[in-house]
Amino acid sequence: RAKSAGKDQFALFCDGLHSKAARQLELESALAQALTRREFTLHYQPICRVAGDQPYLVGVEALLRWRFNNQPVAPNEFIPVLEESREIVRVGEWVLREACCQVRRWQLAGQSQLYCAVNLSIRQLQQPGFAALLARVLRETGLPPASLLLEITETLLMQDSELMMGALHEIAALGVRLALDDFGTGYCSLGYLKRYPLHVLKVDRSFIAAAPDDADSVAISRAVIGLGQSLGLAVVAEGVEHPEQVAFLVAEGCQLVQGYWFSRPRPATELQALFDGERCVDGLWRLR
Ligand code: C2E
Ligand code: MG
Ligand code: MG
Ligand code: MG
Repeated sequence: RAKSAGKDQFALFCDGLHSKAARQLELESALAQALTRREFTLHYQPICRVAGDQPYLVGVEALLRWRFNNQPVAPNEFIPVLEESREIVRVGEWVLREACCQVRRWQLAGQSQLYCAVNLSIRQLQQPGFAALLARVLRETGLPPASLLLEITETLLMQDSELMMGALHEIAALGVRLALDDFGTGYCSLGYLKRYPLHVLKVDRSFIAAAPDDADSVAISRAVIGLGQSLGLAVVAEGVEHPEQVAFLVAEGCQLVQGYWFSRPRPATELQALFDGERCVDGLWRLR
């Protein structure tokens, strides 16, 4: 009896594995066509500076969206597949061009100080000539290099290769800024923070989520904010969902925030509508 139950479990396990592999294959072949079928779009999430009770929009993060069979697929599901197949190289170039172009349009419409944050995959940086491609995209879209912030993750820094280091320095030499995304979730040694040409530290939302109620989260976010500041980096807190978190962050000296409390990621047209209703101060939109 025990034996047959074991067999059943084994069969279930195999089914699970099989359907997972089948799903991967299905996504992979669909993703290979997605660019030409124009199935990708970008959403933009505001990044704000909170000073007093007036949050200002300082930048937007471009986030990739994909609909497959008319269903949205979560980035955490399809982006790893794009990376595995290296299709992220082509898709990432599309994201870069599209985002730079859109933000340049907003700049010309009056938001002269607005910056554009784009997530970068390690696969893109591994391409020889990535910096040259970047320079070309900036030239073609007219976005000033200083208005672009490329977000990389700790796993990328941990490669610690000459190639990677060289590519990051070439990017910085163009005047493009670099952010370390999801900081605190990887295994990056603190020494890396000094070795690479970083400008911004993004505190992962897992630390913000439980603040200010959970003492450990408070201690960790406080330490990360302090670390960023003493290294001369701008610190952005991700995943801010409650006003209590905003108050906590401001008290800790972190004025740059991003999260559902301010806005979910939205299509460009929706964000445009949001902007139109607000007053523009010093070349930046005031929110709320
Ligand atoms: P990320 O770069 O850390 O982006 C922030 C993620 O947090 C986004 O998830 C955003 O929707 C979500 N988020 C923002 N505010 C809140 C909040 O208040 N609460 C909660 N619970 N979540 C919040 P999304 O859009 O699902 O993207 C997930 C990840 O996929 C991104 O994390 C990024 O690593 C990757 N990704 C997205 N677009 C691209 C892309 O164009 N290229 C590459 N290489 N990766 C991308
Ligand atoms: Mg990001
Ligand atoms: Mg992040
Ligand atoms: Mg994240």
